[in-house]
Amino acid sequence: MSCRYMAAISSSLLRSTITLPTLPHFNPLKPPNSVRLIQSTFQLPVHQCPHRAMSRVSATQDEEAAAKAAATEANSGAPTIFDKIISKEIPSSIVYEDDKVLAFRDINPQAPVHVLVIPKLRDGLTELGKAEPRHEDILGHLLHASKIVAEKEGIVDGFRVVINSGASACQSVYHLHLHVLGGRQLKWPPG
Ligand code: AMP
Repeated sequence: MSCRYMAAISSSLLRSTITLPTLPHFNPLKPPNSVRLIQSTFQLPVHQCPHRAMSRVSATQDEEAAAKAAATEANSGAPTIFDKIISKEIPSSIVYEDDKVLAFRDINPQAPVHVLVIPKLRDGLTELGKAEPRHEDILGHLLHASKIVAEKEGIVDGFRVVINSGASACQSVYHLHLHVLGGRQLKWPPG
């Protein structure tokens, strides 16, 4: 292949690389509604958007932008994807269930064991920051259920429970949930 031919290919690749973001009205951090519709149609969680794989830095920025966008709808009372999981409208891999809570595997696991524990009734608990005295029972129940999950998954000797509350903690689904993580050495401090 001649140098001139290779230069032409590189130049064309470069052009196509730099022209994409300059398309009119295209902001990669705020995709047009049609893109959001496609994402929600396919139930892609925020952490799984394909463009996040580009680099850790842009993935982090995307997570923050998406978390801010999710937060604006947080208090609308609109159902979340977790309602569909509770009603079994969409499938999930259930690890534990009782009359008050449901525990299922995270679709985008951050550790060999990554299970979400959620209350079946949201009752205003879009995030932990909205907790009120009336929620004490369910909050205790969720923590105990997390320990049952850890036992079932064989990680009770070492595991972590995380709750992201609000946009600055990168919460992306506004139905309280506890992340139960384990199965590998977890680092501290978290990001
Ligand atoms: P957070 O960022 O704390 O709000 O966590 C939300 C979690 O929900 C993320 O870890 C996602 O991967 C997870 N998630 C979103 N959609 C689903 C789904 N359909 N099934 C299982 N986990 C999901």
